Amino acid sequence: MPAKVISGKEVAGEIRDELKKKVAELNGKGVYPGLGVILVGEDPASVSYVTSKAKGCEEIGIHEETIRLAADTSEDEVLQLIDKMNNDKKFSGILVQLPLPDHIDEEKVVNKIAPEKDVDGFHPVNQGLLLRGEQCPLPCTAHGAQQMLMRSGNDPAGKHVVICGRSNIVGKPLAAMLMQKAKGANAVVTVVHTGAKDIAYFTKQADILVAAMGRPQTITADMVKEGAIVIDVGVNRIEDASKKKGFRLVGDVDYEPIAEKASYITPVPGGVGPMTVTMLLYNTVEAAEIISQS
Ligand code: NAP
Repeated sequence: MPAKVISGKEVAGEIRDELKKKVAELNGKGVYPGLGVILVGEDPASVSYVTSKAKGCEEIGIHEETIRLAADTSEDEVLQLIDKMNNDKKFSGILVQLPLPDHIDEEKVVNKIAPEKDVDGFHPVNQGLLLRGEQCPLPCTAHGAQQMLMRSGNDPAGKHVVICGRSNIVGKPLAAMLMQKAKGANAVVTVVHTGAKDIAYFTKQADILVAAMGRPQTITADMVKEGAIVIDVGVNRIEDASKKKGFRLVGDVDYEPIAEKASYITPVPGGVGPMTVTMLLYNTVEAAEIISQS
């Protein structure tokens, strides 16, 4: 039987509806979540990401401000701006759109954001808290993948999750989240990467297989166990002369044959992608609530 498709659009819509209610409730208590975004330069992909974040904020009814800086803005100016935003009550969340121009040290910039306003969840303090299983803003894509599992009735507890990829923004935080002794977690987690001699040996054992490699259609059907749940985080462009733009988007898994074998699968596009911005909105609202209580 073909796999059930877990739609990121649907799950994201459900969470946004919950956020709208939460925002109204917080507003009633005089708490107003707000997101401050810093965009340095005019990289088209970054402009498009920032625009979708602004639209998301508008949809759930929270304040959003994008501060656009010229590509030659100095590192010091960016750091000073973050300092100012850290102390500005109208922002419960701050994010700096990455990548930054080469002359700016990304690590210095991320580390400057107050951990309680770090809605990307990239600050080392938050990464440490995540590993310890303590309250912190969760990195958005990893959190989105976890929500898709939970909301499709696929609790990872007791399952063997194999994650392909160990980046600081997806693979590692997802592994840290799913291994915790906590609700929506408590899984046995294996992480594979380019150091693995034979990734199929591991992927074939997965009850839940997460592909986050950035390698188009690399996971093939023979690498997947019958009935597995497949979460495809990858977003890759491949040439396609039949498309107006000359390309189309595919994930890291070979979708059609795997959909014949898996029990659940996420599509690309329309899978994990729409979840990332939604979980950023979630973190911004949650940060406002936590800050208001401290
Ligand atoms: P990344 O920083 O490039 O990390 C890729 C990871 O995959 C690395 O750990 C790498 O191993 C591993 N890897 C690469 N090729 C492999 C192979 N053949 N076998 C086993 N492991 C392999 O990428 P990322 O930032 O995590 O992103 C991963 C993908 O997710 C990309 O397609 C990206 O566009 C997508 N993404 C989507 C969203 C979303 O919103 N849906 C958000 C973020 C990222 P090594 O560590 O050994 O090099």
